[in-house]
Amino acid sequence: MTARIIDGKQIAAEMRKELKAEVAKLKEQNVVPGLAVILVGADPASQSYVTAKERACKEMGIYSNDNRLPADTTQKELIDLVNKMNADPKINGILVQLPLPKHLDESEVLLAISPEKDVDGFHPMNIGKMVAGERAFLPCTPHGIIKLLQRSGVTIEGAEVVVVGRSNIVGKPIANMLIQKADTGNATVTVCHTRTKDLASHTRRADIIIAAVGWPNTVTADMVKDGVVVIDVGVNRVEDATKKRGYRLVGDVDFEAVKEKASLITPVPGGVGPMTITMLLYNTAESAKIAAGLNK
Ligand code: NAP
Repeated sequence: MTARIIDGKQIAAEMRKELKAEVAKLKEQNVVPGLAVILVGADPASQSYVTAKERACKEMGIYSNDNRLPADTTQKELIDLVNKMNADPKINGILVQLPLPKHLDESEVLLAISPEKDVDGFHPMNIGKMVAGERAFLPCTPHGIIKLLQRSGVTIEGAEVVVVGRSNIVGKPIANMLIQKADTGNATVTVCHTRTKDLASHTRRADIIIAAVGWPNTVTADMVKDGVVVIDVGVNRVEDATKKRGYRLVGDVDFEAVKEKASLITPVPGGVGPMTITMLLYNTAESAKIAAGLNK
């Protein structure tokens, strides 16, 4: 069996088209969703993520308030800016680009963001609500994975899912979302990590594997069963002299070999990646609707 590719670019483009139409409708009701983006320092990867987020806002008709602060910004200056955005009615979502420079206290900053504007879904209030199965802003990458599965026609209910990786931004939240008693959940989930005794014994019985590890070839063809659905979250650089920049991006899964056994698989790049920003915009529009009393 050769897998059907889950085209994250296409699914993200469909969702953005729907979102753009929704934002245009909101505008007719004088509601303009607004996202504040805060970047501290000049880390090149963070700069390019932030630029992509700002560009995507503009494309969608979402107001974006861009704040680029110097690397020596103090904790107080940063918290003051977050508070200013918390109080600004034009702002429905606040995104502080992580990681922050080492002298800043990340958890204090995330805690300062109003939970009503926490469109990244990292505030403990939103994490707690998600775990309790209450309505909350869901973190963007795992939320994007749910959308990829749904829009690819994958049955989540009753599926054996193995999540490899237990980070706060991917592994833990996706495992949590998938066990919820909800249309997007009802799966039986196993979470694996570096202390898991025999990773392959778990992945081999999975109907769906979600790999969020950060290491190439962690999941190989001998570790999966025929017909498995594979979501590869990893983004890893491997040397490649044939490329102008000297490297190429690969996921955590041995894509070429695993695609011969899987029924569906996400490529890297072009799988999970394009969904993350899309879900940030989606959450910002949801927040604007709630603030305007349109989505109680
Ligand atoms: P992270 O915080 O680095 O955590 C990695 C997890 O993988 C840890 O829980 C670790 O276990 C586990 N792990 C590492 N090696 C393993 C192995 N050999 N067997 C089993 N488990 C292993 O990772 P992250 O932030 O979730 O990111 C994971 C990958 O996804 C990275 O490549 C990142 O760039 C990518 N990513 C992509 C997007 C996107 O939008 N496409 C978004 C977020 C992340 P321990 O807990 O025991 O250390």
